[in-house]
Amino acid sequence: MALLQYRNIVNYEAQQAAFEDFLEKFKTSPEQTLTHAIGQINIDEDDLSDEYDFMDEDDEAHERRQKEKAVSKQPKHKYADLLQKLADRSIDEVLIELDDLYENDTSEGLKLVESIETNTKHYVEVVSRAIDNKMPPPTTGVTFKDDVLDVIMERRQARNRDLLEAAANSNDPEMAENTFPAQLTRRYTLVFKPRTSDGDKPIKALAVRQVRGEHLGHLITVRGIATRVSDVKPMVQVGAYTCDRCGCEIFQPVNDKQYAPLTSCPSAECKANQSKGQLFQSSRASKFLPFQEVKIQEMAEQVPIGQIPRTLTIMCYGSAVRKVNPGDVVDISGVFLPTPYTGFKAMRAGLLTDTYLEAHNIIQHKKAYDEMIIDDKLLRRIGAFSQSGSVYEMLAKSIAPEIYGHLDVKKALLLLLVGGVTKVDG
Ligand SMILES: [Zn+2]
Repeated sequence: MALLQYRNIVNYEAQQAAFEDFLEKFKTSPEQTLTHAIGQINIDEDDLSDEYDFMDEDDEAHERRQKEKAVSKQPKHKYADLLQKLADRSIDEVLIELDDLYENDTSEGLKLVESIETNTKHYVEVVSRAIDNKMPPPTTGVTFKDDVLDVIMERRQARNRDLLEAAANSNDPEMAENTFPAQLTRRYTLVFKPRTSDGDKPIKALAVRQVRGEHLGHLITVRGIATRVSDVKPMVQVGAYTCDRCGCEIFQPVNDKQYAPLTSCPSAECKANQSKGQLFQSSRASKFLPFQEVKIQEMAEQVPIGQIPRTLTIMCYGSAVRKVNPGDVVDISGVFLPTPYTGFKAMRAGLLTDTYLEAHNIIQHKKAYDEMIIDDKLLRRIGAFSQSGSVYEMLAKSIAPEIYGHLDVKKALLLLLVGGVTKVDG
């Protein structure tokens, strides 16, 4: 019996073109930049409130500042600027806010945002291709100060260009196929930031137990507390080998959890000679991605009475690593994906799979101490708190607030936390 076949009617080329258009043309409106600037306190209609006013400055500086202000009032090409920074190697993450894309969706019927939200993994590749096409030339050349990787990358991109030119001149389609794979020349991680609201109702973060099969492959946001965080380890993305017979460089993209390292040279020359050149893995030319596994657990208020909190595995790659510490309360947006078992476990599990969330965007709920800004409001609150006369009880009650009563135990815990004397030996 023939298997049923169905060709999905998605026009990826048109969507990619729409993404390219968006990356190039998207502008933040002046009002938006102004509201962003409020956080940095620098809006002023005239020069009266300017913080530099007390300094006697010459006209030249004044003029320059006026010019800068005029520039900041013009709409900004947010993503085009981002791509330029990317080309200049000053950043290695591309964050695409789906809010921006949603507001700016001029394309009729392409459903860009919906497509990304429901088939995220695939659209990372589609948008990456759009970014590769729209990447401007770098304004600064690679110098010895740059990373080894950047130097290698520069060579690779130059070679890709040469090969494409040669292929165009000689009409030899085989030559174009010899270019380096895109995974090797890309030096960024593309992440999406989900929409904050759907129409007029805000999109809420899910609890772990609300994540269902219907969310597979979708971009979702999950709230929880990080319980376990693994070390950051390199994960091979593209393995590079060199052949000691013909001098060929072989690249092996790794897309799976497992891979078998190549042993004999697959190049045309070695095949023709039947020489089976030995391959040596070169870690310097290979591409690795930082990788970290995080476990999050439901928060106490998300767990129904009498039930046990559930956990979810989060995989962090590239720029998402080192963002979470154990104990942090986080909203993690990412792609919910199945992960088939491998090896012996796979034989026992049959068709069953585990699931995990591939992190895209992480929002911390608790602020670190060094991020706290002590302003008048906070000082007043601290003052009122110390005047209240019940600091001891309030601090004790703030320990494990989900457990009712036991104030004496909590007081004991508090005293253990903050009390005591330094032990001096001898
Ligand atoms: Zn060889």
